[in-house]
Amino acid sequence: MTSSSNNSVDLKVRGLKKSYDGNLVLKGIDFVAEAHTIFVIMGPSGSGKSVLLRHLIGLEVPDSGEVLMNDASIHDPATREKLELAIVFQSGGLLNSLSVGENVGLYLKETKCMRDTDIDPIVNNSLEKVGLSVDIDKHKMPSALSGGMKKRVAIARALAINPQMIFYDEPTSELDPLSAVTIGKEIQHLNQEYGTTSIVVTHDRDLAFGIGHKIAFMKNGVLTEPRSPEEITQHSDEETIRFLNAGSIQDYQNKTQ
Ligand code: ADP
Ligand code: MG
Repeated sequence: MTSSSNNSVDLKVRGLKKSYDGNLVLKGIDFVAEAHTIFVIMGPSGSGKSVLLRHLIGLEVPDSGEVLMNDASIHDPATREKLELAIVFQSGGLLNSLSVGENVGLYLKETKCMRDTDIDPIVNNSLEKVGLSVDIDKHKMPSALSGGMKKRVAIARALAINPQMIFYDEPTSELDPLSAVTIGKEIQHLNQEYGTTSIVVTHDRDLAFGIGHKIAFMKNGVLTEPRSPEEITQHSDEETIRFLNAGSIQDYQNKTQ
């Protein structure tokens, strides 16, 4: 691992609660994701995974509870200033009017006010890390990319800010199985190479069990105790087994209604 100590960041979540219009979505979430690990949050669609993720990165304020990174609150502006967090959005979140290269460098240009000559090598390096070419792919517009390539660009954009923690929201959704495996390997490779603590929210069982060091399940607004894939396979409760064995997420939802 070539990581420096600056990405040795852990995440602690305590008693997180959030409701919208009287509908309690997060009912008290507690967990710890250790530094350098890939922590997977699994759950069917509508279970509150994206809501949880928005709280983890400080985009939303909880009704109660706290989110701590290296024991500092994510809602403290000093913490936000010290730590670079990157999120790979479910949709990719690319701007269609900008080229791949411009998308990847946007944060450095707009937020960090860096010069183009300084941004360019970082963009090139980030694209290469996710297997995209500087000669060709960099100059394409997002509309010319496959779903898998768009996700790679979104990951490259996250890497460009040299994050200390990286959050992925459904990184394999809308991808064909082969591209999903490739993206999973990419997430794993980046974690191994840089040791960046990674939080992955997904309903993709293969991804979760393929790359997760710890996996926790969202169930009715609470998170189960995080376990390794081996532990889950050996000691699962009935509902988890049903979730894991369901033919599809839709299938699972029908069965639990
Ligand atoms: P998931 O990501 O697991 O598919 P979400 O976290 O997007 O699910 O949503 C969980 C629940 O919270 C849903 O019932 C959704 O309608 C509700 N919800 C999410 N965001 C808001 C919001 N801003 N206002 C009201 N309800 C919301
Ligand atoms: Mg979601």
